[in-house]
Amino acid sequence: MAMISIIIPAYNESDILDMLVKRLLAVTGSWKDSCEIIFVDDGSADNTWQQISEYHKKYPFIKGVKFSRNFGHQSAVTAGLRYVNGDAAIIIDADLQDPPELLGQFIDKWKQGYQVVYAVRKKRKENFLKRFSYFVFYRVLSKLSEIDIPLDAGDFCLMDKKVVDKINSLPEKKRFIRGLRVWVGFKHTAIEYERPARAGGEPKYNFFKLVDLALNGLLSFSSLPLRFASILGLIIAGTSFVGFLFFFIYRVFNLNVFGYSIREATGTATILLTILFLGGIQLITIGIISEYLGRIFEEVKGRPTFIADTTVGFEEIEAGKRG
Ligand code: UDP
Ligand code: MG
Repeated sequence: MAMISIIIPAYNESDILDMLVKRLLAVTGSWKDSCEIIFVDDGSADNTWQQISEYHKKYPFIKGVKFSRNFGHQSAVTAGLRYVNGDAAIIIDADLQDPPELLGQFIDKWKQGYQVVYAVRKKRKENFLKRFSYFVFYRVLSKLSEIDIPLDAGDFCLMDKKVVDKINSLPEKKRFIRGLRVWVGFKHTAIEYERPARAGGEPKYNFFKLVDLALNGLLSFSSLPLRFASILGLIIAGTSFVGFLFFFIYRVFNLNVFGYSIREATGTATILLTILFLGGIQLITIGIISEYLGRIFEEVKGRPTFIADTTVGFEEIEAGKRG
């Protein structure tokens, strides 16, 4: 009999936790395998943690890790992965956008020998702007990244213990789990599903958190933007050189273009635009470099990805070690 760990990051999800637990218990109750459910409370300000503690009292296999503050979804998933004891770990959102009813299929595939089973969203029931941004993001990411990141696959997945251990042993602090999952390799397979809308409450990812996630995904798995900076530089330097030659010949031989000689042209607008254009390009390239530099800075500081305040269902000593 296998043991399955289910990881659920939750940030102010008090409204839907009861519904989630009910649906999860209905699903896991019919399994032959045993399971543990690990909630990671990402610094919620509502009743999330009290509810998790209540669930633990009622069902000891429901456990919880409470962060000392909000560290973000990817950190919560990272924590969950550090606390699992199962032969396989499943990552699922708290808002029921990842239907628990799919978990049986994940486990079937895993038993067929796949070490990573991830869910691909065929359709999304979210607003157009969000759907469109995700659509573009995953396509840009797959073009730029050095690994084969599947399109429209989020964190909803099952990973074998081996894969989890490998991901846990990676030293990087700022983690893009759905990328690392591909990076570590092993045998993958996909399951398609329709992503429903949130079961209740507000989305906990705001615009800035989403941009941060997207940038993190792009920059952690691609150095192409840096190359883009050098290519842009080369193109502009090359064009200016040709322009210089052109004007040099033009002036030395005092040629006329459209009846005008260059000596009569003042060209203020041209100069101004050129300076602005070049200034813009320089800022963009410095910006790209800074994004990487900022990330290097974060990594070099070596601060932990999360800090756990308390836990329920884990031995405290053990719990402290994983933080
Ligand atoms: N979440 C979290 N910390 C955060 C933001 C979100 O743990 O800072 C959790 C949230 O509770 C949910 C999951 O991450 O279980 C996905 O968040 P959300 O539904 O807001 O994102 P979306 O589905 O809109 O991408
Ligand atoms: Mg959601």
